[in-house]
Amino acid sequence: MVDNFSLKPMILVIPVLLILVFIELSFAYLKGKKVYNFQDSITSINIGLLSQFVNSTGAVFGALMYALIEARYGTLAWSTSSPFTWVFTLLLYDFLYYWVHRTGHMVNIFWAAHITHHSSEEFNLSTAMRQASTGFYFKWVFYLPLAVLGIPVQVYVVVGLIDLLYQFWVHTRLIGRLGFLEWFLVTPSNHRVHHGQNDYCIDKNFGGIFCLWDRLFGTYADERADEPIVYGIRKPLKNWSPVWSNLHYYKSLWIKAKGARSWREGLMFLVAEPDWTPADIKSTSTKSPAVSTYQKHRSLAPTSIRLSGIATTLVSLGLLILYLGTRDQMPLFQQVIFVAVAIVMFAGIGKIWSLEKFQSPQNE
Ligand SMILES: [Zn+2]
Ligand SMILES: [Zn+2]
Repeated sequence: MVDNFSLKPMILVIPVLLILVFIELSFAYLKGKKVYNFQDSITSINIGLLSQFVNSTGAVFGALMYALIEARYGTLAWSTSSPFTWVFTLLLYDFLYYWVHRTGHMVNIFWAAHITHHSSEEFNLSTAMRQASTGFYFKWVFYLPLAVLGIPVQVYVVVGLIDLLYQFWVHTRLIGRLGFLEWFLVTPSNHRVHHGQNDYCIDKNFGGIFCLWDRLFGTYADERADEPIVYGIRKPLKNWSPVWSNLHYYKSLWIKAKGARSWREGLMFLVAEPDWTPADIKSTSTKSPAVSTYQKHRSLAPTSIRLSGIATTLVSLGLLILYLGTRDQMPLFQQVIFVAVAIVMFAGIGKIWSLEKFQSPQNE
């Protein structure tokens, strides 16, 4: 049961999201606004497709665990036809999402997963598709209070999808401030702050649908008109591989933990904040970038690379739709093989896009 209802809607949803990306791109072009970079967007979209391959199996694990705990420990009976059930679940889910997201920024091993979403130096609808392929293994644990309350797994999964899809439209630079909505909703303006690497943006605005949680817990910041936002992470990824964008921070964590002088220190590297360094070692944390001189990572994108980018994205999309449409009939080992082949394919594509010969800096 858990297997079947959570994935098929994505077959319709993903093409719609891609059409919306194309509409924003066209609109920006007509208005003369440069908010897209070809290689960045192709990478973001492929990171999104990869995450669907991996999470379609990973999320089922989370939903299954949820269903087991709800069946065993669920305390209250909820009617799935009552609007109250849905509104209550949405509010509580969004509150818990705030903590999932905040923990994703505050705990190093979780940041290793979530950093993928922040690794773009652009901010547009394609950035919204830059979702992590790791992270599914821990996120479901945060939502267990819903299971203990007895919220049916169907409601949990659908509300989770609503919360995720709401966040798509807020990844745009084409919409300004939205008046009173800024008080309680996550909007393009306050989510731009979340993606900034300026000092005033760091660890701000974790909300999913509502920014009330940020206001309540002191993590809210308004966008400033006097300081343009520099998007991305302070140690830039400088790579176009969808697979590497998911793994690079795990590698640096592994190197740090391996070099630790004690078990405690090694553990701290995993569970402390991303900037944590032992007290006797000088911190190497990077400072706010100089807004006026910041250089985004750019690479040459000859026609062959552009065409291969578009072609491989369409092939990946086709394979993903095929996978989502047929995986219910596949035994688990076959699913794992399908996903593994997809990972190898994305790694190969990313390797070509990130070849040294294409990495000469250029402005567009
Ligand atoms: Zn974040
Ligand atoms: Zn975002």
